[in-house]
Amino acid sequence: RKADIECRLVVLGAGPGGYTAAFRAADLGLDTVLVERYDTLGGVCLNVGCIPSKALLHAAKIIDEAAHAGELGIRFGAPKIDLDALRGYKDKVVGQLTKGLSGMARQRKVRTVTGNGRFISANELEIDTADGVQLLRFEQAIIAAGSQAVKLPGLPWDDPRLMDSTDALDLADVPKRLLVVGGGIIGLEMACVYDALGSEVTVVELADQLMPGADPDLVRPLAQRIGKRYGGGIHLKTRVTAIEAQKKGLKVSFDGEKAPEAQLYDRILVCVGRAPNGAKIGADRAGVLVGERGFIPVDRQMRTNVPHIFAIGDIVGQPMLAHKATHEGKLAAEVAAGEKKEWVARVIPSVAYTDPEIAWVGTTETEAKAKGLDVGVGKFPWAASGRAIGVSRTEGFTKVIFDEATHRVVGAGIVGINAGELIAELALAIEMGAEAGDIGLTIHPHPTLSESVAMAAEVYEGTITDLY
Ligand code: FAD
Repeated sequence: RKADIECRLVVLGAGPGGYTAAFRAADLGLDTVLVERYDTLGGVCLNVGCIPSKALLHAAKIIDEAAHAGELGIRFGAPKIDLDALRGYKDKVVGQLTKGLSGMARQRKVRTVTGNGRFISANELEIDTADGVQLLRFEQAIIAAGSQAVKLPGLPWDDPRLMDSTDALDLADVPKRLLVVGGGIIGLEMACVYDALGSEVTVVELADQLMPGADPDLVRPLAQRIGKRYGGGIHLKTRVTAIEAQKKGLKVSFDGEKAPEAQLYDRILVCVGRAPNGAKIGADRAGVLVGERGFIPVDRQMRTNVPHIFAIGDIVGQPMLAHKATHEGKLAAEVAAGEKKEWVARVIPSVAYTDPEIAWVGTTETEAKAKGLDVGVGKFPWAASGRAIGVSRTEGFTKVIFDEATHRVVGAGIVGINAGELIAELALAIEMGAEAGDIGLTIHPHPTLSESVAMAAEVYEGTITDLY
């Protein structure tokens, strides 16, 4: 059968991994086709993930800052929230970025095909487009089909009051009582948004701390702040056992040591993780191995077991983060174009854009302890930072973890406003093999929160005794 489309390289999925791969491949001269089932490029991250959530968190921050301005002698009235306008703002931000991507694709002559694609052989995809099924024949492929929210089974998913993160970003209303199931990054970011908009938020988490994976001390300032604010509180080691749709609300039963009594909620947001789309793209017909949980195994060059087919982003494993996907996308495109490269990054930073933010990179203290690594920690409390005091946000701290033998940075964690911006310096420190002295002797601008990074290194080296 004659192919409708032929190309050197096809990229399946136009999220941050896919569009980065396609653009890089085109820049390197490969004739590239980008296949995406949705009308806009950008994937989860731009359309229903990183970008819209951060636009709404910006609104939450403004509401919170206005509420606390009284301390400075400035008083605003209660916020009036125009939900349609707020949604419009979020959509405008998303639209600006997704349109930008379409322009960039055109500029590079990357052909985009809108439709759901699946492999039918090691060199062919079938795509369900508006004009019928199209056959695409390729020499090389990059799978970038991402992930989707896990829908816990046995829940009344046909009830619109039960939401996943995509539904929550739609801002249908501000529910009076909102239950967030899952105290990980995505759940807590959305909890911050709805709390600021006026919902009474309750969070339940199965693990014994919020944001499992981060060091417990990093999470404490966030837990304390939201524990005080959220009307419904935070319930750890708690499992939702049943959700029953009633007219007045969704009735939820819980199980756990300190589980709350069964209660009614106006809406429930379930954020219990994301599952890769590996099992949904006909990978077997291309001979590509897919693991039990739907992840596709790859080597250090992002090649699957079929050498001319690569895979990148959420579909190849944790951490499911946009900046990991883009890094992998660029690498896969370069290898596909014949460059001799492989994965060399040592660390991938994680950031929760909650209030306060939590960011960490490299080895955590918990991990170091479990592995018996010989590490030391330099910690600088923001209560001693002039900048943090000036903006009334002293609950944060910066800690840097060093290898005791070499004094090299092996990990870091920051909690506090702008922690996500501050962590990048420590990712660079790890990549460059920086030692405590390198960081402490680097002159940081005053008064900034970035000074806390140098101070933490100096605390470790013992070169400051008083915190000021
Ligand atoms: P995706 O973005 O999932 O893109 C895959 C694309 O492939 C999709 O557009 C999909 O429609 C398409 N596709 C799938 N199957 C097919 C098919 N068969 N045919 C055609 N097209 C197909 N990460 C961060 O780093 N920072 C954040 O702040 C952050 N915030 C987040 C907030 C939320 C609410 C969510 C849900 C996620 C967030 N993430 C964040 C995670 C981030 O969005 C993902 O890690 C990232 O989008 C993964 O990129 P990807 O390219 O692997 O796949």
